Amino acid sequence: MNVGFVGTGTMGAPMLGNLVKKGFGVVAYDVAPAALANAEKRGATRAESAADAARRSDLVITMLPSSSHIETAYLGKNGIAEGLTAGRLCVDMSTVDPAASRRVAQSLAAKGVRFIDAPVSGGVPRAEEGTLAIMVGGEARDVEEARPALIAMGANVIHVGAVGSGEVAKLCNNLIAGVSAVAVAEAFRIAEGFGVDAGILTDVISKSSGNTWVMQFMHPVPGIVAKSASSNDYTPGFMTDLMAKDLGLAVNAARELRVPVVVAPAAQQVLRLASSHGLGRRDFTSVYLFLKPSGEQAPV
Ligand code: NAD
Repeated sequence: MNVGFVGTGTMGAPMLGNLVKKGFGVVAYDVAPAALANAEKRGATRAESAADAARRSDLVITMLPSSSHIETAYLGKNGIAEGLTAGRLCVDMSTVDPAASRRVAQSLAAKGVRFIDAPVSGGVPRAEEGTLAIMVGGEARDVEEARPALIAMGANVIHVGAVGSGEVAKLCNNLIAGVSAVAVAEAFRIAEGFGVDAGILTDVISKSSGNTWVMQFMHPVPGIVAKSASSNDYTPGFMTDLMAKDLGLAVNAARELRVPVVVAPAAQQVLRLASSHGLGRRDFTSVYLFLKPSGEQAPV
């Protein structure tokens, strides 16, 4: 089976690498020449456009930054829709607004093309290992058709519900992860102020009610978790800008639904400020660098 893979950046490249390893043919396209060259290094064949990748494959997978990018890549000039005929299946694995997934699904349905959303969790290490968590929204038979390709990239493929529901699950998850990152950073700054050892505190919290995935696997303090981005100069990982975007998706969804949210918008603004102070393209756990204490001359 040939997979047309559009968006071969930080996550797309290792994900398509696993498709190649599991025997899929991959025809890749990315607007960034460096990302496309990287896809070729991982065994993909280069396409000339998103439409070309769609035309030369049996299944289309996209891994793009945000809602506007999926609308352009699917429906824009030389986009995926131009390369597809009725009956074909597309899988968008980007994290986007569930409403954008539904809009793209509807536009493609007018051509008889099927669409499911399948955002992922786990970050670059699990994308490399092929052990991502994949949450899927769409018709059950479409999910089953895509499953062999999804299983090549992920360890857990969970069908959540109709188109857009994978994205709902993803934004709920990232609301919790984004808020946790800010909370963990605040807690460890307080501990540091008191001179409490960050490693010992990690040990305590990992056995207590404050334990969280972010602290265990993505510790914001350098030198505690060897594989964390913080121990590698906050090289992403998952960029601050992407986490701010995901919290924004959660906040927008809550607004549409008239659900009161207090903590998510606060965390979103902290990450947005970290971004505007130069940390946008570093890992989101670099919010710890941003949340440093004021100087001692500052009145309390
Ligand atoms: P990225 O910016 O590294 O990669 C996205 C790629 O899409 C880029 O190479 C870009 O050039 C390309 N692109 C943009 N518009 C395009 C178009 N119209 N046609 C073709 N290519 C286009 O981002 P990423 O970190 O790989 O993240 C991709 C998605 O996965 C995002 O929605 C993100 O929120 C989500 N995600 C990321 C992580 C992570 O740890 N990085 C984890 C889970 C989910």
